[in-house]
Amino acid sequence: MHAFFIACESVACLVSWRANEDALNRERATQTASQRVNRDLNEAQTLAKVGSWDWEVGSDIIWWSPQLYTLTGRDPERFTPGAESFLQLVHDDDRPRVRALLEAAVAKPGETGLAYECRLVRPDGAVVVVHCLGRWVRVGEKAPTSMVGTCQDITERHALQRAMEHQALHDSLTGLGNRALFLDRLDHALTLHKRSGAALSVLFIDLDDFKTVNDGLGHGKGDEILAEVGHRLQAEVRASDTVARLGGDEFAVLLEDTDVERAVEVAERIRDAVHAPMSLGDHLVSIQASMGIAPAVSSTTSPEVLRDADIAMYAAKEAGQGGCEVFTTAMRASVINRTQLREELNNALKLDQFVLHFQPVVNQQTGVVEAVEALVRWEHPERGLVPPADFIPLAEDTGLIVALGQWVTEQAARQTKALQRQLGVPLWVSVNLSPQQLCSDVVGMVRRALDASGLDARDLVLEITESTLLNHEGAIQQLETLRAEGVRVAVDDFGTGYSSLSYLRKLPVDVLKIDRSFVDCINDGPDEAAMVEAIIKLAHTLGLRTIAEGIETDEQDVTLRRLGSDAGQGYHLCRPLPAEALLDRLRERPRISA
Ligand code: C2E
Ligand code: CA
Ligand code: CA
Repeated sequence: MHAFFIACESVACLVSWRANEDALNRERATQTASQRVNRDLNEAQTLAKVGSWDWEVGSDIIWWSPQLYTLTGRDPERFTPGAESFLQLVHDDDRPRVRALLEAAVAKPGETGLAYECRLVRPDGAVVVVHCLGRWVRVGEKAPTSMVGTCQDITERHALQRAMEHQALHDSLTGLGNRALFLDRLDHALTLHKRSGAALSVLFIDLDDFKTVNDGLGHGKGDEILAEVGHRLQAEVRASDTVARLGGDEFAVLLEDTDVERAVEVAERIRDAVHAPMSLGDHLVSIQASMGIAPAVSSTTSPEVLRDADIAMYAAKEAGQGGCEVFTTAMRASVINRTQLREELNNALKLDQFVLHFQPVVNQQTGVVEAVEALVRWEHPERGLVPPADFIPLAEDTGLIVALGQWVTEQAARQTKALQRQLGVPLWVSVNLSPQQLCSDVVGMVRRALDASGLDARDLVLEITESTLLNHEGAIQQLETLRAEGVRVAVDDFGTGYSSLSYLRKLPVDVLKIDRSFVDCINDGPDEAAMVEAIIKLAHTLGLRTIAEGIETDEQDVTLRRLGSDAGQGYHLCRPLPAEALLDRLRERPRISA
């Protein structure tokens, strides 16, 4: 019995000990769970860069989570959170807005919550962008007196968003605005213009011959030029004006409060600034720009004003390089004209509307015609004889140049073979090739033309510009193949590109055509003559034959002969003529000498 009692007692002890132990465990478990929740919450806040707060609005006591102190860079020992002390952390520019939001929320407890973004300034001056949310906490039916909320650091997301917005509206190469930004600003300015009548002008700027520079110097240097032009444009206008790069080598400037007369003055300043020499490594480059100006008219939309300025720029380009024109409605007709021309050009080959003229190349030492240059013309049923400058760029644009070039080569070979037979003298022919043709099968094209005509490969010269030779590896290979078969290669318009003279040594070239611009000024002074003499000497050192282009006077011819020029062509010697007219002329006077 005693033993039983003891046993019972110890069982009771054991039971009560067990009960205590369970309670303790439960308490521990609860504690651990709440600690874990706290720890996880802390961790989550740190990870998400979110701080939380609890605001007793009436007493203006705010409890901040540790992350909120971290986020604002404040020491919990020293900083007492409150509505006013929080407002003092807000960036000066954002403070009035945030204050108004807090006041509006407090004025209507339980109704208006909080949702805003603002900048906070940390003690070290760093700015943090935060997104704050707050909602009223309701206990029972009474109007709530406290609000809880969060404050999230969105600085990185904000910066990324800003960068993306910037990227969408700016040109990465020049840092200028792009077309979308320009049209947006123009839209805005036009609205103001319609309301207040303030003058407004748009300037459209297109670099002249940029393709040549780009091909000649390489795209890296081309990009440097574009960036430099961007800087120069920006430097010539007021901070309130908008400069944008529309694409390629096209720029636009929006001049607010500026009438046409003042816009012309700005354009002249811009032209001079762009034209000033630029130094790119060991090259000194001078760029010209053609410009068009369109004033805003109440009835026009932003794309229309920009298009008018573009049309005026085109008119300026047609009038010569480096010019500037103000838009007139008559200019629109010429654009329609050009569009029509493009369509007609596509049919011209089928309709057999192209003809070749031949300009003699005269041996300047003997006066004998040694060659002819084939120059294409378009016999347009209504427009008459269209010069190549008016349609070759269009043919290059549309790709027709490959088929047209093939036609020219075949015709030139055939007609030269006929001239050789009829005149009974040796005569070679040169044909101009566009860069695009050198990207197609030139070897095949030339072989077919030679086979069909029976012309000797040694009587054909292909004229190519410097930039084409410098930039098309494939082109050089094709030319090497043809040269191995006897065809010769001439560098056309020599001196207008950007290649260095020493580079010529490495190129597959036989003939150097000295550009007309050198011949033009050959008698202006000793420097000009010395330059041409140097080119001739260099060409001879490299084993090249020289042909001077565009000889218009007897004096030019005489000087060139004195300087040792091998051959020349120009209006003074003979204008380009159809084959039959040339045949008559050469039968009459086989020598063309000055
Ligand atoms: P280019 O190859 O430099 O041809 C010489 C141009 O100068 C010709 O103009 C010729 O008529 C002109 N010219 C000749 N002598 C004189 C002169 O004493 N003074 C002046 N001011 N000009 C003179 P054209 O025939 O109008 O040809 C212009 C350009 O069109 C050519 O320049 C050439 O780049 C291109 N071209 C002509 N035919 C063809 C062709 O069949 N294919 C390609 N791809 N281009 C062509
Ligand atoms: Ca030529
Ligand atoms: Ca030329």
